[in-house]
Amino acid sequence: MRNNKLLRRQHQQNSLPKFVKQQSVYMILVVVAFLGFLGYSMYIVQYHHIPFLQQLEAEANVDSSLQLRHSNKRQLQAQSNEGLISIRKLNQHVIDMRRLNQNLPFDNPNGGVWTQGWNVEPVQVDKEHPLKIFVVPHSHCDPGWIKTFDDYFQSQTKHILTTIMTSLSKQPNRKFIWAEISYFEWWWKEQDNKMQQLVRKLLRDGQLEFVTGGWVQPDEANTQLYAMEIQLQEGHDFIREIFGEEFVPKYGWSIDPFGYSPTMAYLLKKYNFEAMLIQRVHYAVKKELSMYQNLEFFWRQTWDASGDYDMFTHVMPFYSYDVPHTCGPDPAVCCQFDFARLPGVKAQNSESCPWKKKAQQIDEHNVKERSMLLLDQYRKKSALYRSNVVLIPLG
Ligand SMILES: [Zn+2]
Repeated sequence: MRNNKLLRRQHQQNSLPKFVKQQSVYMILVVVAFLGFLGYSMYIVQYHHIPFLQQLEAEANVDSSLQLRHSNKRQLQAQSNEGLISIRKLNQHVIDMRRLNQNLPFDNPNGGVWTQGWNVEPVQVDKEHPLKIFVVPHSHCDPGWIKTFDDYFQSQTKHILTTIMTSLSKQPNRKFIWAEISYFEWWWKEQDNKMQQLVRKLLRDGQLEFVTGGWVQPDEANTQLYAMEIQLQEGHDFIREIFGEEFVPKYGWSIDPFGYSPTMAYLLKKYNFEAMLIQRVHYAVKKELSMYQNLEFFWRQTWDASGDYDMFTHVMPFYSYDVPHTCGPDPAVCCQFDFARLPGVKAQNSESCPWKKKAQQIDEHNVKERSMLLLDQYRKKSALYRSNVVLIPLG
């Protein structure tokens, strides 16, 4: 067991998968989605009874899904009284993405500030079930895109890594996640003993966490299992050898591959991952999943009737993974909190907000107003999910 790891703690204390495990309530949502690269061919999932439900049926001598649902509701309420999590809507169903894609209109109506969505109302929260907000700082570093791997490393990535470690060391409550081990390994080799010791401490203290931990964040549309696995193994081997088994990731972070494959869900399950996050899903599918609070689900392989390879999956709802598209549905608001875009900040590739509302410096005079504005976005984002936990990637 790992201790003090940001995402792990999030799941242990607050999020659905751990809660589901703790309560053995495996009935909440079983959905499987697969997005192809050009099309959106989808996979099927079958709802299945999991041991707890069978046990419950035996004890209660009932075979009524309605009663089972009631039982689960009571358990959920009991859990929420402990202040851990509240599930706003309990539901169970299967989404066959192949059918869903046949029925979706893909008409792309203008949704307002959330162009591909709709005018989201903020979720109502009360003191008993306050919103639990996890802000997860990250940096997306392609090992090769417009520049080469080497060019990126020299001009940007090594500076990002150094800045992260230095910044984390200044405040023990700062956190960061890192995915691309190819960059990390290069950077690590160039560090002196002092910096290496700092990194080990940051990992131990849970301020720094590796996610997915592959050599790269792989393309999933055109790759095959062998290539996906060997790069994952390569990254994990580095982490294991340098830092130890306990720092090998258990959470997947895939925010930029253009289309997702169930092969990755299968692979991560095989590597004992507990959950994964995906982002570049077709806007129409995102909208559909958002409308029915289905952005978190168990991803089922078509060949897996037992559900042994179910992988808990979180889909980011909005257009992109950058700051304007992660705090909530209105990028014009979120962008104001992208401090790399503040006037005078000369971050590489920084730009002013294209939504015509500039990033703003926060001080004692506007902190309350700024906070309420940001919270409104968090509450709107939370309305798209079923629990009082909301994930806010920041990077
Ligand atoms: Zn990328």
